[in-house]
Amino acid sequence: MFREELEPLRPYVPPKSWRMAAESDDDGLAKLTSNELAFGPLPEAETALTEALTRANRYPDSHVSRLREAVADANPGSETSNVLVGNGSSEVIFNVLQLLPPGDVVYGWPSFSMYPTICAVLGMNAREVPLTENEKFDLEAMLRTVTHETRAVILCNPNNPSGTYHPLDRIREFAGALPENVVLIVDEAYVEFVDDPAYGDSHALALESPNVVMARTFSKAHGLAGLRVGYGIASEEIADYAERVRFPVSVNLAAQVAATASMLAKEKVEERAKFVIRERGRLEEAFGKANLEYIPSQGNFIMVRFAAADFEKSGVLVREGEALGYPGWSRVTVGNSSENDRVIEAL
Ligand SMILES: *Cc1c(COP(=O)(O)O)cnc(C)c1O
Repeated sequence: MFREELEPLRPYVPPKSWRMAAESDDDGLAKLTSNELAFGPLPEAETALTEALTRANRYPDSHVSRLREAVADANPGSETSNVLVGNGSSEVIFNVLQLLPPGDVVYGWPSFSMYPTICAVLGMNAREVPLTENEKFDLEAMLRTVTHETRAVILCNPNNPSGTYHPLDRIREFAGALPENVVLIVDEAYVEFVDDPAYGDSHALALESPNVVMARTFSKAHGLAGLRVGYGIASEEIADYAERVRFPVSVNLAAQVAATASMLAKEKVEERAKFVIRERGRLEEAFGKANLEYIPSQGNFIMVRFAAADFEKSGVLVREGEALGYPGWSRVTVGNSSENDRVIEAL
């Protein structure tokens, strides 16, 4: 009765901290597994949420207009007609892939676990290209993997879980080398944490290309993972098509008002991201001093060769590297100052 390609799929297994948080009230644990922000939503977002609650009996704006306006304003050169929205950027990516005929999707690996799942659900063939020796996307090998069966390429930039990235001129060159009928999805879930100026103003590439989508989220730097909202920047044509397949109210009222308020207070989000960047540097330095191998990161997390079980002894929960393609390693989310102190003490 069921589609064959769904056979290998299993329900999402959440990191240990989600289960432990659900099962216990023990606040003594540092939960650094899921690349969440250590701080709650901005006060602006909280106020907007409180005000919106009394309207929860009504359906929200199905077009998500105010959020689209805030996103367009935050990305100079873009109009609301260039903005995609979704229930997390996972839905944005899902919607874009839904627009394409059956075929192949090329992406680097290890990367975000949702890519193989989305491909299987949509009946598309995943073509996974191993990272280079220095844990970066192998852009040449990815181009060689593109055939007339390829419908899309996904570049996670910076990549989760390696934290590595390619600057905009390399991505632009890569986009230019792709056939015009192949969609390039650049997943920028961690873009706010990049401090290399060479990374560039990436949304410009989406605006100048008919086949490039930048996918971003409110789950990381904006601290709204629990509300589920993401967005994309793309050509008007892609944005128009994406809106044809999206469920009309996939972005709920709370998500809409909180994300809009948070985007309007962008400078405060940037301040918080700067804190994460400084703390990331402090953790990397500590890993170096402890003679631990780690991958220099541009995300709010660091891959380090130190077992999750050893962190756990000190009450620090991190993502087990085994689950991410790095046995013996851990992915440590940058937390608040005291959580990061505990990471360093655990070494
Ligand atoms: C966290 C993350 C996302 C965001 O997912 P949401 O659905 O927006 O919560 C997207 N891509 C990558 C690589 C991520 O790590």
